[in-house]
Amino acid sequence: MPQIDFSPQHKINKMVDFDRLKLKKDDKARILLLERPTFAWTHTLRAPKIVNDKAVKVWKDGRRGEKYEDFDMDFIARPLCLGDLNILADKGVDGKNCPACEASLESEQVPPPERRFGMNVIRYATNREGKLLKPFQAACVVWTFAEKTYNKLVDIATEADGIIGRDLIIGPCINESFQNYENYLPSNQSVYTTDEATKNLIDEIYAQNRVEDLEAACGRRVERKWMANDIKQVNDRWAIANGDTGTDTTAAAAVVADELGAILAEAPKPAPSQAALPDLASLLDSPPASRPAKAPGTDFDDLLSKFTAN
Ligand SMILES: [Zn+2]
Repeated sequence: MPQIDFSPQHKINKMVDFDRLKLKKDDKARILLLERPTFAWTHTLRAPKIVNDKAVKVWKDGRRGEKYEDFDMDFIARPLCLGDLNILADKGVDGKNCPACEASLESEQVPPPERRFGMNVIRYATNREGKLLKPFQAACVVWTFAEKTYNKLVDIATEADGIIGRDLIIGPCINESFQNYENYLPSNQSVYTTDEATKNLIDEIYAQNRVEDLEAACGRRVERKWMANDIKQVNDRWAIANGDTGTDTTAAAAVVADELGAILAEAPKPAPSQAALPDLASLLDSPPASRPAKAPGTDFDDLLSKFTAN
């Protein structure tokens, strides 16, 4: 059995958990918005699932209902971006202050930061069709969502002349893991304003159970070295996935296209800032193969020969 020190870096860094708004597939929910959302910049890190040193592939649904084979992706982490808020608002990426932003400028496998929104909402207890249960019950839960949902809510707020204090019927849920809902319908009749007793009860549920730290609900607060570890894991898994093209011509073609894109898009990089140096050094410790988008020409030739051989 391995021994371990009592030091913070050995803690398994689990994301703080919250009672979240979560719908099962095909379910609807009736919710009430009582506050404006908070937002944070986050990087959602995903990488191919690796089993027995090989990347797993699955059939996925395309936009037009067609099936295609692609890597089965694991969620790795969603760290809060370490970039400067002013730089992020201005440029959308801050490679100087955030290792994940820096990595996103070098390779497509680490995404640039995205705004993630979080807010406390009241969820009414309903049946699966969205009808209120009797007696009346409700809970205060945290709803986090991405840019697309935020835009939908802005549209509703604009059309319905405000969204706060109004019931919203969401669903059916199309995809449980991504929590995508088909419709967002503002209700003409808000339960909140039916009578004074109900309003007081909802206000009390909200006041007693609302979460203050919504930023922590949007993403995980991390130190630079932890973020660098997560990025290394993403790059290492992609190195396995890209090295494992075998005789699959579609995968080889995709990799060749990726390599070509990377070579064509390659531009001189600005010198890293003093502050970024320690983390850069740890990133560079990983073998060159773990940065596939920057693969040298020899790898490209090798891939190309595999591709043309089929
Ligand atoms: Zn960042």
